Amino acid sequence: TEDILHRQDKLAAVGQLAAGVAHEIRNPLTSMKGYAEVLLEDEVEPQKREFVEIILDEIDRVNQIVEDFMVLAKPRAVDLKEKNIVPIVQTVVSLLDFEARKKKVRMHLEAPDDIVQIECDEDRLKQVFLNFIKNGIEAMPNGGDITVKVNVEQEQVKISIQDTGVGIPEDKLKKIGEPFFTTKKDGNGLGLMVSYKIIESHNGTVYIESELNKGTTFNIILPAHTA
Ligand code: ADP
Ligand code: MG
Repeated sequence: TEDILHRQDKLAAVGQLAAGVAHEIRNPLTSMKGYAEVLLEDEVEPQKREFVEIILDEIDRVNQIVEDFMVLAKPRAVDLKEKNIVPIVQTVVSLLDFEARKKKVRMHLEAPDDIVQIECDEDRLKQVFLNFIKNGIEAMPNGGDITVKVNVEQEQVKISIQDTGVGIPEDKLKKIGEPFFTTKKDGNGLGLMVSYKIIESHNGTVYIESELNKGTTFNIILPAHTA
């Protein structure tokens, strides 16, 4: 197990710069997307249509990266409100259930029936759970199980996302959450960095438990709301 959040501090300056650049990239991307869509309105020969669709997909990919970087630019931009975390987690699990099934992954949710209040930015937290669960699915190329648990422990709420995937080798564990660290062909290595940033802005922490070829658990600890 390892706490990784402190490493994010070093990235703050880099993040600011990158996010500034990301902002500038957004406008030209929007017009590129618009014009590419116009090209599809006419009768286009199938081959060319396919190329334009690839262009659109790639624009979406760049857009996603840009959005990830924008989070870094506005680390304080979280809008904290008192919310029940359980339905928030539930929503993300249902959202990904279809994609999971296609990949022979079963999703399980273990959450208390009671209301678990925390101070959070719902949309940002959803993005975090989405990133972790997607990573879990991607860690199980032959299918498996994802178990998402919500536990209340004294003044804290622990949300754990456990997979039965490939695990993370010891030497890679240190690099988890660094920008652009990815072991995937189509990965960008931004998901975890952005997630850690969001968790940090909720005054939370993360620790990882992982065993090679057995699976990985990401544990997110957030302060519980106490009246
Ligand atoms: P990406 O998914 O684009 O690679 P992330 O920041 O989401 O970027 O993850 C970075 C890397 O961390 C992944 O490429 C993978 O090597 C590792 N990783 C993250 N989650 C898991 C997991 N559940 N099991 C195994 N490895 C993981
Ligand atoms: Mg990812």
